Amino acid sequence: MTNFLSGKLIYSFFYLAYILNERFLNDQIKRNYMADKFLEYNNKRVMKKFRSFVPKNIALLLPHCIQNYDCPFRITSDIENCKKCGKCKIGAILNLKEKYGLEVKVATGGTLARLFIKEKRPELIIAVACKRDLVSGIYDTFPMSVYGVYNKIKKSPCINTDLDIDEIESFLISLKKNENIS
Ligand code: SF4
Repeated sequence: MTNFLSGKLIYSFFYLAYILNERFLNDQIKRNYMADKFLEYNNKRVMKKFRSFVPKNIALLLPHCIQNYDCPFRITSDIENCKKCGKCKIGAILNLKEKYGLEVKVATGGTLARLFIKEKRPELIIAVACKRDLVSGIYDTFPMSVYGVYNKIKKSPCINTDLDIDEIESFLISLKKNENIS
C-alpha cells in the first residue's frame, strides 16, 4: 500500500508538471522535457520490476496512425490481415508478434485499448503513442506496467507515423535475458 501511494504521488507530480509545462511554456523543447523525464522514470521502473523474471503475457498497443493511410486492409480488427508489403511498419510488428509471442492490438482510440487490456490482462504492456497519449495513458493506468515508446511523426501528426522497431526489440531482448537468471 505504501509503495502504491508513493508511486501514485510521484506519477501525479510528473503528470502535473507535464500539464503545467504544456500550458505555460512556448518553447517546444522545454515543453517536451517533463514528458521525456516522466517516460524515462516510468520505463526505468518497469525495467526494474522485470529485472529477475520474464512477464508471461506481453501486449503491444499501437496507434492506428502507424498503418499506411492508403492501405486497404483492416488491421484494427485483426493485425494478421496485414500483407507485409513494406509500406509501413505493421509487417515488422507482425514479425515481432510471431518471434516473441506478443498480443498485439492496433487501437483506434482509448476505449478500444482499455477493452483490449481488460480482455487480455497482460502482465506487461508496451505502448506506442504520441507524447500526449503516452503520458496520459501511463498516468491513467498506474500501477500497471506500461513501457512507453514514442511514435515518430513524419509529416502530419496523425497520418503515416513511424516507430523504431529496434527500440522495441531491444527491450524484448533485455527481458528475455532475465530467463537465464530467474
Ligand atoms: S505493411 Fe501491412 S498494414 Fe502496412 S501498408 Fe502493407 S499491408 Fe498495409
